[in-house]
Formats: sequence, C-alpha cells, structure tokens
Amino acid sequence: MNMKPLVIANWKMNPLTVSEAKCLFNSVKKGLRDFKKVEVVICPPFIYLPILGALSSARQKTGGGKLVLGSQNCFWEQKGAYTGEISPDQLLDLACQYVIIGHSERRRYFQETDEIINKKLRAVIKAKMSPILCIGEAKKEREQGNTEKVLRNQLIFNLKGVSKAKFSKIIIAYEPIWAIGTGKACGVEESQKIGLLIRKIITKLYSSPIAKKIRILYGGSVNSKNAAAYIKEAHLQGLLVGGASLNAKEFIEIIKVVSV
Ligand code: PEP
Repeated sequence: MNMKPLVIANWKMNPLTVSEAKCLFNSVKKGLRDFKKVEVVICPPFIYLPILGALSSARQKTGGGKLVLGSQNCFWEQKGAYTGEISPDQLLDLACQYVIIGHSERRRYFQETDEIINKKLRAVIKAKMSPILCIGEAKKEREQGNTEKVLRNQLIFNLKGVSKAKFSKIIIAYEPIWAIGTGKACGVEESQKIGLLIRKIITKLYSSPIAKKIRILYGGSVNSKNAAAYIKEAHLQGLLVGGASLNAKEFIEIIKVVSV
C-alpha cells in the first residue's frame, strides 16, 4: 500500500503547562517543514486542543508534511447532561480529525469495555472523524498463545454495527500491552505477522478490498532507532508514539526516518 505514513503522537496526560505544550507543538511544526511525505497527528490533553488548533492553522501555509490534531478519547453522546465529558462534535469543532479509541490505559484504568469502545467508535464515525482503534494483547495472553483470539474478539466487538460503507474512516493501531512504555518493542517480524493477521480478520468480517485498504499502525516503545522498520520492513502504514513524542528532537527524528 503506497501512502504517506501516519505518525500519531499520544501525549497522554502531558505536559504540565500550556507554555510547554505550545513549545513542544511549535518544535514539531518547525521540524516537519523538511518532510513532506508524512502525516503527523498530535493528540494532546483536551485542554490544549483550542490553543494548539490556533497554532496549527497558522502552519498550513508553511509547506512540509501535514500536521493535524487528534484527541485521546471522547464520549459517545453528542451533547447533554454528561458532567465532565467531551463529545465528538465538540472535538470536531476544535478541528480534530482523529480520535484514539480503546487505548489500553483507558481499558485498564477507566474500565472501558468492548461495548463502550464500540459506542465511542461509532460516535466518532458519525461525527465524520477517523477513530484510531487500539487493540492488543497482554503479556500473559501472548505467553499463553492467545494473541490471535484476543485481537479477533476485540475487532469483532469493537467494530460491531459498523457498516462496510463507514469502514474507510477507521484506522487500527496494534498496541501490544506488554510493549507500551516498557522499552520492549514488538519485533518487526512479529508486527508484520500481526498486521497480516488483522487484515485476515477484517477480510472475514468485511471483505478483501476493505482489508487491503485499511491503515494498520504499530504502537509500543517506538523510538527513532526502531521506527523505520515498522514501515519499510513490516509494511505497516504508521506509528502510534507515546513517550518518544514528548521529546521534540526524538519525535522529529522518528518523522524523518519514516518519511518516504
Ligand atoms: C501508547 O501509549 O500508545 C504508546 C505507544 O506508548 P509508548 O510509545 O510510550 O510505548
């Protein structure tokens, strides 16, 4: 599949101040000028979205790779009495184009079930944004040889009710839980196998042409040394980067090595 790699920065609950967020964003924006063949999505905490949105629209005129905003989460209802929640439509209004759904930290710390993830995913599609659906197995599940079963079940339940016509918006991020924030990234061969497995499952659930077109990303301890291989050797379509996206120099280096 010949398309620009998609590099998603998941800032999680960082940085601590608006000025640090602006500084990090501006550094990425500046660094991206030299690399046209890549699309970068910054997913900051909600509170920084309007501020970074203003900075990002200013950048559209400067050339270089595409830089857009995404969110790390959202609620499934459009509006109403849901104290503390943020809706997909509110994110769209802030120029978000992507929403991360089903991150393992949300599944683990916020008890997000497959049913909740499915509701959120469908709400994001309804709001005309792209959900980045995170799936991945835990260490024990991998050791017990259950990776395929776990991924299949996550895909079946998380994609429930999504029609073929709506499927093109979806991006799948393979994020093995044992690789997130551990420094133990998934091997290139293994990630390629999982990419093919995900396509096989999507073929069964949808169709072969749909499975061929879907973008599959890898996430889990990506850095500037291992990033290129996931795109160029494992033939995945992008990366989801956590820790390394908080260091502008390292993140720009990742962009550089994957830029085709
Ligand atoms: C993540 O949390 O999505 C992630 C990939 O984190 P890290 O790159 O730090 O492993």
